[in-house]
Amino acid sequence: MQKIEPISDFDRITPTAAISLKTHGFRAKCLQRLVRLDLPVPVTVALPATTVRAIAAGHPVDCPAILADFGPTPLVSVRPSPENPDWGGPATVLNIGMNAARHAALARIHGEEAADAIYLGFIQSYAIHVARLDPEMFETGGSSSEALRAALHAWAEEMDEPFPQDPAQQLSEVLRSMARAWEGTTARLLRQAKGAPAEARLGLVVQEMAQDLGQGISGSGVIQFVDPATGVPQVTGRFFNRSRAWHGKAETLYLTQDPRGPSLEERAPEIFAALCRHGSVCRARLREEMQIEFTIEDSHLSVLDAVKVQRSSRAGLRIAVALADDQVITRSEALLRVEPRALSELLHPQVDPRGRRDRFARGIAASPGAAVGRIVFSSQAAQASAARGEPCILVRRETSPEDIRGMNCAAGVLTERGGVTSHAAVIARGLGLPCVVGASEIRLDARERRLVAPDGRVFREGDLITVDGTAGEALAGEAAMLAPALDSCFRKLLSWADEMRDIGVRANADTPADALVARQFEAQGIGLCRTEHMFFTDDRLVVMREMIFADSATDRAAALARLLPMQRADFVQLFEIMQGHPVCIRLLDPPLHEFLPHSREGLLELAEALDRPLSEVTRRVEAMAEFNPMLGMRGVRLGVAIPEIYDMQAQAIFEATLEVAGRGDPVVPEIMIPLVSARREVELVKTRIDAVAAAVHTKYGREFAYRLGVMVETPRAALRAGEIAQHAAFLSFGTNDLTQMTYGLSRDDAGRFMNTYVQSGVFPEDPFHILDVDGVGELLLIGAERGRATRPDLVVSICGEHGGDPESIEFCRRAGFDYVSCSPYRVPLARLAAAHLAIRSREQPNAS
Ligand code: PEP
Ligand code: MG
Repeated sequence: MQKIEPISDFDRITPTAAISLKTHGFRAKCLQRLVRLDLPVPVTVALPATTVRAIAAGHPVDCPAILADFGPTPLVSVRPSPENPDWGGPATVLNIGMNAARHAALARIHGEEAADAIYLGFIQSYAIHVARLDPEMFETGGSSSEALRAALHAWAEEMDEPFPQDPAQQLSEVLRSMARAWEGTTARLLRQAKGAPAEARLGLVVQEMAQDLGQGISGSGVIQFVDPATGVPQVTGRFFNRSRAWHGKAETLYLTQDPRGPSLEERAPEIFAALCRHGSVCRARLREEMQIEFTIEDSHLSVLDAVKVQRSSRAGLRIAVALADDQVITRSEALLRVEPRALSELLHPQVDPRGRRDRFARGIAASPGAAVGRIVFSSQAAQASAARGEPCILVRRETSPEDIRGMNCAAGVLTERGGVTSHAAVIARGLGLPCVVGASEIRLDARERRLVAPDGRVFREGDLITVDGTAGEALAGEAAMLAPALDSCFRKLLSWADEMRDIGVRANADTPADALVARQFEAQGIGLCRTEHMFFTDDRLVVMREMIFADSATDRAAALARLLPMQRADFVQLFEIMQGHPVCIRLLDPPLHEFLPHSREGLLELAEALDRPLSEVTRRVEAMAEFNPMLGMRGVRLGVAIPEIYDMQAQAIFEATLEVAGRGDPVVPEIMIPLVSARREVELVKTRIDAVAAAVHTKYGREFAYRLGVMVETPRAALRAGEIAQHAAFLSFGTNDLTQMTYGLSRDDAGRFMNTYVQSGVFPEDPFHILDVDGVGELLLIGAERGRATRPDLVVSICGEHGGDPESIEFCRRAGFDYVSCSPYRVPLARLAAAHLAIRSREQPNAS
């Protein structure tokens, strides 16, 4: 039989050894960097992943050769070193090499008790992790020497042989068990859940033990130089002093001077100073804030390891900005180190992850942030609650435009139905309200004013709950919260993003409040102002309803004449807030039916306001109902059928333009026609708008400019973009409706089965959430290309909810779009995501 040669492929970590992240893992690579920086790292040998895999497959490894680097009586630890620290790995095993002889030697130096504890600890971890024996057998009691004796006895009883004394044999077993643990199914599934590829491999490092015992200052600890929650410079960590107070228990010292007790800084100022020096060397040379693991043996400092400081999103941002400010990393690198999606955590209050979570419902995370409030089941109750100054959570089956007032008064929203582009979701994102939609397991009984959770708990109006729109959960009671973090670091990072990016970012903003948020987040204009939202305040709704109910052209003109100054005032405010930045105003879009009441009380109120019999009002409201309102009399169809509405809006826009002219930067309003499907619709509307412009020009005797464009949200508009662009200065893709119509999928109802569809692999993602680049995306490409073929200077953009999503921004940028427009609270995310894309495409020019 042929003898199998033991594997001898491993390397002592020296400054020049061939250690790489890919082959030896992050820990080995990091230790080599520390060695190169001249940090006091104990002798370490790295086993590459190929060796570890062979060990797992049963090949022997040349342990005597590994241990040759550690002197005649080796005492070592073995730690995992996968390529990425997040992938975990088997538990570290310490003090390999402990045996009777070493125990006696340690007892002479550190005393019997300390030597017993070290030996016992090793036997326990060897028995449990390596030999896989029952941990209970090694939970021995009594004095330290009795406990040690009992453990050795338990081993001998169970294994029919004494505890192994040969360090090489011990090491060989430890390596084998760690290598095999990595290959196990549970470990594989766990690391894959953290993003590890199926073929992820493990390296191992064998390191000389630095004992944390001694007469002088001795112990072990970790130190880092930033606060992991905020990123503010601050020494944090811990140190267990085991020198004088050695009775099997460690005494914890503060790291820096502290009135509450003794500190390492006072007891060992030179060692503390050395740690600080090592920290700043790591920061400068490893270009990262590192946590250093160290031991002190009789005043001798060893650095065992250094890992990237774990951090919250806000700390991550502050650290990246500080490193760039100190020119440790470039601004591009700082930008790339901050994940765009992590920004939304900084814009809103969040549920404190350290607090208790009593979840009673799960749904779709529709708008990030968290809010605490008392349950209300109607918009009226929300308004009443706001009037009392009491924060409330609006809980509805779904919301409709009528609920906007209620949503405006609520701190958060929870709905039973709906998906990411349902009414509640879109409005909540616009308002920056935390929102969970599609919580389909709750049962709502609006009449009884109660909500029944899937676990049977009943919540009534007035009960306190927390909506966590980031996690898509509703929690019982008041959860502990973290405040938003919109500080100077946040602004600085985004100003760097603006210097890098090459696609514009505007905001969807309907009201002055939205516009203020848009400016606060430095949007480059408004890409979509949904004017219908201006009609839902009490005073306007009545006039709007009068206009809808008008029997004659004269009555309608009278109602519109009352709406005109209100609209003009809206636009004046928007233009003033946006200070010369473009404002794209969409003409009225929803079916008129949405402005009418549906409840009996609402109908009665309307009958009173119009001075008509209730029966007539009810009949007329019913007569206006449509079977399929999303495909009915809405958008440009209203503009063609009742052109006076658009005339009034255009007049209000032009008069507002003249009113603010001369007060600041000139405004060139953009007017957008919704739901177009044919060129002729654009022609008809354009002719009238041009006529209104001419009339305003004549009336005031003053010049002004404007741009007219088309919202592409029907598949036909995308296909016929070539001819539509003859009359349009810009095309803006409304991907909410375009997705709805391309799939024939109701944006308000799809939430009911979307989970099943995604889980069954019918759709890779919810297409209302992540742009369907294959289908809807093809229509975008066709539309942009055909439009530009007609009009090379055509401005092309996207204003559906996808506009704030990093993947969709990538698609739009690649397709050469001029800008994306998204909810104001997503503007920072879009600015950063766009910067990432520009930086990456400069780094890899062929990638885009
Ligand atoms: C759209 O359809 O993509 C859009 C932006 O308009 P709305 O969501 O108002 O229908
Ligand atoms: Mg639309």
